[in-house]
Amino acid sequence: MSVKNLGSLAGKVAVVTAATDGIGFAIARRLAQGGASVVVSSRKEANVKRTTESLQSEGLDVIGVKCHVGLEEDRKNLVDETLKKHGAIDILVSNAAVNPFFGNLLDCSGEAWDKIFDINVKSAFLLTKEIVPHMEKRGGGSIVYISSIAGYHAMPGLGPYSISKTALLGLTRAMADECAKYNIRVNCVAPGVIDTKFSSALTENEAVKEKMLDQIPLRRIGVPQEMGGLVAFLCSDEASYITGENITAAGGMESRL
Ligand code: NAP
Repeated sequence: MSVKNLGSLAGKVAVVTAATDGIGFAIARRLAQGGASVVVSSRKEANVKRTTESLQSEGLDVIGVKCHVGLEEDRKNLVDETLKKHGAIDILVSNAAVNPFFGNLLDCSGEAWDKIFDINVKSAFLLTKEIVPHMEKRGGGSIVYISSIAGYHAMPGLGPYSISKTALLGLTRAMADECAKYNIRVNCVAPGVIDTKFSSALTENEAVKEKMLDQIPLRRIGVPQEMGGLVAFLCSDEASYITGENITAAGGMESRL
């Protein structure tokens, strides 16, 4: 069975950050399977090359551009290279995040706090700012931020990271209001615990994992592909009346601020 054209994204150009592993990779692959021309990116050239080649070998329309989202020149280059190749941008999935700190919230240094907010929040904002004028020229577009269930309820030891993910919920609302006049929809996805390298500290230790599962009504850890379909839907014309929303995909974990 062909993996192409599972959705209605034909003719759309999508930029996905942090797309060489985990959730970002699954999203990029699903968007391309839906017919989009996808630009994958992450910090390491080798990861970008491996991912691009792997997706191209599946017959998908994918190119890769190295982009550390915290670097202005990399963000600009990502946009420039996308425009050079495709002449337009219709979709931005802002997926990059870091967590350099684990511990009590009050023990977090200003330096670690800045790093978390620079990558997880500020770069999402700045990349949006860079891309919106091109979507405006196109007559519309779709932006999806990747938040986290932790944005609703701070995970123990992950206070600053969790707060950065709460900020993305606010960014979604404010940006959706402002971009509606350009026919640009802005939505957010809050994954629960998903099986990736990022979450391995929670999923590799059996005792920690059991405790985690007790909080998940579906009693299992999610997989990255479960985020891909949801993001593809939000980016498609089937979601044309949805903006300013956050959709939690967390196996039933509570999501209320
Ligand atoms: P992952 O599997 O560890 O993948 C991380 C990706 O990010 C890699 O492609 C990495 O490639 C790239 N990356 C890291 N820093 C970057 C930067 N500064 N600029 C650009 N790319 C960067 O992570 P994941 O679990 O899929 O997480 C993806 C997103 O989902 C994050 O926003 C995370 O907060 C969110 N999330 C994850 C979970 C979960 O349980 N996994 C739950 C809720 C939310 P390079 O090393 O080449 O840069």
